[in-house]
Amino acid sequence: MKNINRAHRPDDADARRATPPVICYPTDSLPEADSRILHSARKTLEKTDEVLVPPREARCFEVPAGQFFRIISVEGPQVGDLNLWQADHLEEKFYSGKTRALHGTHLSTGDRLWSSFPFMRPLATITHDTLDWYGWDDDGGSVHDVIGTRCDPYTAKLLADIDYHHCCHSNLIRALAAHRQMDYATAETLVHDVLNVFMCTGFTHDTHQYFMKASPVRPGDFLEFFAETDLLGGLSACPGGDCSAEHSSDVAVCHPLLVEIFKSNDAALADYRPIPPSRYGRQHRDPS
Ligand SMILES: [Zn+2]
Repeated sequence: MKNINRAHRPDDADARRATPPVICYPTDSLPEADSRILHSARKTLEKTDEVLVPPREARCFEVPAGQFFRIISVEGPQVGDLNLWQADHLEEKFYSGKTRALHGTHLSTGDRLWSSFPFMRPLATITHDTLDWYGWDDDGGSVHDVIGTRCDPYTAKLLADIDYHHCCHSNLIRALAAHRQMDYATAETLVHDVLNVFMCTGFTHDTHQYFMKASPVRPGDFLEFFAETDLLGGLSACPGGDCSAEHSSDVAVCHPLLVEIFKSNDAALADYRPIPPSRYGRQHRDPS
């Protein structure tokens, strides 16, 4: 927590504080997905595959470019930790920090999941969110955040001196290793900060600490994405369950999550133009 030392307060402290905030990355020039095409394509979705993610475990799934996938709540309130990779080059992976800088702390319909440098393009676009009614609650909380990282055994060891092996970080490692036949050490270099699907989070008003509260998700709710490129996804059904009490243990009641993959037969999709990888030339040139 930030330590505030009033003894260092300068005479013009109020004036320094009163400068207006400026949005770091105005989105006026940010390329938007063609919502007209996506809206049309959603009307003819045909399910092609599904993957059930067991509680306190993760599973991987593949989504071809131009198809859709949904993460669906089944049986009971449950939070999911989502990783995304470009299916042919796993070093291009979801960049939660830049996505947060562009779209804000919590995502919903129309927001895009951007990839890591030097690629920096949308891997997926959110096309439907049944929890878009939630908005912001009185605690400053909302759903689907890109501020958390993923629960992990290192922090559990640090704070509670326990060895817990079903944190989302470890779940995603096991799932990726099994799906792409790689060892855990290799998979661990590819697992990254997540989109916290259905999780309700924010920062406390007083100390600005990261908090979680019971997810408003109920069975039947879903978050839907359009795959902008060929995707490999990894989803962990977090050991925190609905994240109303604690995570990184077997205490919380947990439920499975369902991933469904859909294709659309809409001819309009042929006109959809995904954003290519960044055209910056990577010179990083010294101006001197
Ligand atoms: Zn977790």
